[in-house]
This record gives sequence, structure tokens and C-alpha cells, in this order.
Amino acid sequence: MSKRDYYDILGVARAADQAEIKSAYRKLAIKFHPDKNPDNPEAEDKFKEAAEAYEILSNPEKRKRYDQFGHAGTGAGSRGGYGGGMNMEDIFSQFGDIFGGDGGSPFESFFGGSRGGGGRRVIRGSNLRIKVKLTLEEIAKGVEKKIKVNKNVVCKTCDGSGAKDKSSFHTCATCSGTGSVRRVTNTILGQMQTTSTCPTCNGEGVEITAKCKECHGEGLTKGEETITINIPAGVSEGIQLSMSGKGNAAPRGGIPGDLIILIEEIPHEVLKRDGINIIYDLYVNFVDAALGTSSEIPTIDGKAKIKIEPGTQGGKILRLKGKGIPEVNSYIKGDQLVYINIWTPKALSKEEKAQLEALRESSNFKPQPGKNEKSFFERMKEYFE
Ligand code: ZN
Repeated sequence: MSKRDYYDILGVARAADQAEIKSAYRKLAIKFHPDKNPDNPEAEDKFKEAAEAYEILSNPEKRKRYDQFGHAGTGAGSRGGYGGGMNMEDIFSQFGDIFGGDGGSPFESFFGGSRGGGGRRVIRGSNLRIKVKLTLEEIAKGVEKKIKVNKNVVCKTCDGSGAKDKSSFHTCATCSGTGSVRRVTNTILGQMQTTSTCPTCNGEGVEITAKCKECHGEGLTKGEETITINIPAGVSEGIQLSMSGKGNAAPRGGIPGDLIILIEEIPHEVLKRDGINIIYDLYVNFVDAALGTSSEIPTIDGKAKIKIEPGTQGGKILRLKGKGIPEVNSYIKGDQLVYINIWTPKALSKEEKAQLEALRESSNFKPQPGKNEKSFFERMKEYFE
């Protein structure tokens, strides 16, 4: 399943400013809103898709990462249960920003009527952020990490209700459990009905008369959970993956937050990463370079033997196909590039000096780069391709 480009989804240019992005999203949100398209899964998909695109492109930090890394940079769309777009709660909470006001309610007035469910506020647990450090080998192959996280869990004593017992958990009398109160006011244009969050229960629709002793009415306690995280191959420093519903729990049957995983790279001792390629600096003494030799070098798959041809020049780059890092969610794999450095001895014995002096005048030792010799810049260009 390949994801569409966020700019294409919103129909804006890559250079679009925030006002253009907002305006484009506003139009799509109105066009595909579920209230206007009941029982139309295609419209719902479009609605969600647009919301996700807006979520990324409206945030300068996320947009920058998306521009640089594509969908992989946003944490959404990776395989193994990550991302998967936004849920409806997220989308509606985003509307405060788009349509003004504090979230759901301006939207209701915008379209007239509330969106199903009686308007009771669903409590959402907060997101949990963790860092995961990965070795180059783990990045190259992908890895399953079991990580113990400290987080808010549903209180076992009260089952998340926050109430001492069943008899202290009531439907809110002020709003009859709907979470919102309606007020009718007379204006010169006639009667106007406004809906606002119930002040007694704060929109939750329930009232607690005696609090649970364990969690003091919060419905949550501190707990620990070991979470298995499947990290796809090819991730890189600074990328965030998100696992929906693995964050802090929410009380009273609410939706748990997400677990946000920030990737950090542990530098390898000898191999350097450059995007999907791996760079290795090999030093060859000039005798080996002249006579040819074979050399064992490290790769992320273990040792590999490479041949140094007789007459190898310093600065040559050998390419080990497919020995690099895969691109996230793709079949593309980088290479390992072996940069040949000629090692010139720094100290010489008397005899060595004499031997070299004898060679110095030999015509074969005179540098004579041919017309076919690639320049430094040509080699660099080749390497960057
Ligand atoms: Zn409790």
C-alpha cells in the first residue's frame, strides 16, 4: 500500500505557505465531512487522508521531516501497526485550529447539529514518548525491541471509573449524562440555541460522589508495561514512529494515547552511514596497492573479502552492491562504498630508505596519470549517484 503525496492530497504546491495549506484543507474537510457524506466510506477515507496531510504539513517541524524523508519521516505509514493515519477524535480536535474556537463545538455550529454519540466528551490518554537507541546492524535488518515503559494504567481497584464503588458513580444530573448543556437565548433574529460542555462533569457525563482510595478519583495508577516494538529496517536518527493506543491509558473507558518512539543511532566503530549507503575507509600500503592483494573488510553482514587489483590508485571507490541499508518500506537497498586510501609509511629504517631511494628514480615510480584517469570530482559524482 503506497501512500499518496501529502501535497497532492491537499492539492497545493510544495512551496505553499501555511495560509494556502489551511485553506486547501478547510475546503476538503467540508467536502468530505462524514456528516455530509453519511455511509460513504470513500469520502471517509478522503476525509482522513486530508486530515493526515494537514497534520503533517501544518507543522513546520513535521513538514520539514516529510520533505526530507517522505512518509517514513512522519512515523505514519510504516508497516507493523504504526501510524495508520489519524483517528476521528484526533481529526475533530484539529478543527479548533481550522474553524476557530475550541475543537468540536465550532464544528457543530458550522454544520448544524452534532456528530453522533450525543456529544459526550471522550477522554484521551496522553501520548508517551520514548527513545530507542539502535545499532547500525539493527537499523540495517530491522529489529524487534521489547521495552519496559512506565505509564498511566487503568486503576484496577475501580476499573478506571475513579469511584469508590458502584453506588458512588452516577450519571451527571446537570446534563443527564450527555456531557453538554443547551441554552436557548432570545436574539433579534429569533431564538438561538447554543451547546456547551457541561460545567458539572466537564463533559464526561458522570459524577463521582466518593472517590476510589487507590487512585484518588483519577481512574489511573502508575504502572509498567513491556511493549514489543517492531522497528522496520532503514529508519534513521530523529525519525519518530508511533504506535496507536500504546501510550498512557485514559480513565472511564477513554481512548489511550499513542506511544511515540524517537529513533537514535549508535555510531558504529568503523562503518559510517550515509543515507542508505555505508562508507568504509580502507587503508592499503603502497606496496600492496602496487602489487595487488586481497583484504578482509567489515560489513554489516560480517566480514567480506575484497580484491585490490595491482596498480590500484588512492581515492578509488569500490562498491559492494546491496551491502548498505534498505530504504524504509521499499525494496531499494544501498551499497557499501569502500574508499581506498594509500598508506604512506611515516617512519622508515635505514635499509628501507635505501631500498626506496633505489626505486625513486625508476621511471615506473613517476606519476603518470593517463587521460582515462578519473578526477577526484568525477569519483565523488559517481559515489553520490
Ligand atoms: Zn481507582
